[in-house]
Amino acid sequence: MAIALLGLLAMQIVYLEKMVAMRNSQFSEIVMRSLYSVSTMLEQNETKYFLDKDLAEAEQTYSGISQNSFSFSDRHEATIDTTFSTDAATKPRPANINTLKDLNVKDLNDSYQRKQETLKGQYLYQKSLLNEVILTILNQSSDRPIQERADSATVASYLRSELEFNGLTLPFEFAVKSRSNGVVYKTDGYAPVSQQDVYSQVLFPNDPKNKQNTLCVFFPNKSDYIFSSVKFLVPSLAFTFLLLGVFLYTISVAFKQKKLSEIKNDFINNMTHEFKTPISSISIAAQMLNDDSVRKSPEMLKHVSSVINDETKRLRFQVEKVLQLSLFDRKNATMRLEEEDANASIYSVINTFKLKVEKYGGHINANLDAEDPIINVDRMHFTNVIFNLLDNAVKYRREDVAPELEVTTINPNEDHIQITVADNGIGMTREDLKKIFEKFYRVSTGNRHDVKGFGLGLAYVHKMIDLFGGSIRAESELNKGSKFIITLPLYK
Ligand code: ADP
Repeated sequence: MAIALLGLLAMQIVYLEKMVAMRNSQFSEIVMRSLYSVSTMLEQNETKYFLDKDLAEAEQTYSGISQNSFSFSDRHEATIDTTFSTDAATKPRPANINTLKDLNVKDLNDSYQRKQETLKGQYLYQKSLLNEVILTILNQSSDRPIQERADSATVASYLRSELEFNGLTLPFEFAVKSRSNGVVYKTDGYAPVSQQDVYSQVLFPNDPKNKQNTLCVFFPNKSDYIFSSVKFLVPSLAFTFLLLGVFLYTISVAFKQKKLSEIKNDFINNMTHEFKTPISSISIAAQMLNDDSVRKSPEMLKHVSSVINDETKRLRFQVEKVLQLSLFDRKNATMRLEEEDANASIYSVINTFKLKVEKYGGHINANLDAEDPIINVDRMHFTNVIFNLLDNAVKYRREDVAPELEVTTINPNEDHIQITVADNGIGMTREDLKKIFEKFYRVSTGNRHDVKGFGLGLAYVHKMIDLFGGSIRAESELNKGSKFIITLPLYK
């Protein structure tokens, strides 16, 4: 599924890229086509300019010199006449054409001859005129200043109409640059970021190379335009990302569940094993009680009863642990908050724990100095919290020194109590310290694999302190020791 999703995503991205590239090349093509048309139109404009100029000059030269020679108006009339006569030749004859028969055929021929002469003269004249114009264009046009040949307003209007004709109604900015002097003129907004955004076309390409000018166009909103034409693909990309996100979430949930069930299985196996030992001890003690010799000896009786007592305590502790685990599965743990003397509860936990610490040659220092120790907690859970912290302090002791534990309580202000459990154990690194309150997090202590644990103890402590409305933090230094500091609100 991951491969399929990633493949789909990659395909969509490639498709998007291709679309953008295609739109870009379409855009360039339209712009270049329009620019070419503008350049052609400017050339035509120039030809018209020279033609008009030449005609005006010719009219001045010829007017009034001779009746027989051609004047500008004559030439026009002649042209009109010719068209008329050509038209007349192709049109059907009118009904009264018979009168022509009466005309003198010789006269007709003469007039025809004259007309033809006139036409020939006109043709030669126009041809020479055009040749003259072409020559002028070739010789003079490149000497005219480019501002006159392609003035800004004309270029703008040609550009606009050509781009619109090709379906591009995007605002544009342009400049005309000459080879020798750089920018000749430009519009106010012409400020392309890179040369890649500029489309250019040589104006009057027949000019000598060193006199050539270039028309440069730049579209400030081009990227928006390109994006707007491919943005319909964005939702499909977003949905694919959403699908990928949901997929990753599902996978992580599945993995978490798997890990959780493995841990639970381990826990249950471990617990069953742990239950078996006290149960068999109690059962042996019960068998011993059946023995008369044991019942008669008060010392033995005392021993057996202490064994039963100890083993029952162990059993209760195990049951407590199972209960602690089940707390995580319930959303709302059942709490019975009540007034509780923190100093007294801590003192009783320390008392039961003392023996265990002393077994390893260490001892617990208790400085329960809080003057106002009354808090609002669930007694059982509070005792478990202190017990878990002390248990960890012993579990993660250093092999080379005897465990020294210190438990203190103070009132940092009149509304709170601060409980500190400190040890001289193996400590933790800064990275581990950040994660120890997470469920199932265990420091990979390497040589400490003999220490049993599920990474639930501190998570449970954290959850309980939260529910009591307090906070917990830890300080630690590797190979020096750790300190857990709990702050709880006082009962008011
Ligand atoms: P568990 O003890 O079952 O592994 P905990 O939630 O009680 O789980 O502790 C999480 C981790 O924090 C432990 O694996 C241990 O490495 C580290 N840790 C907890 N308390 C101490 C301590 N007092 N000193 C050093 N490391 C500790």
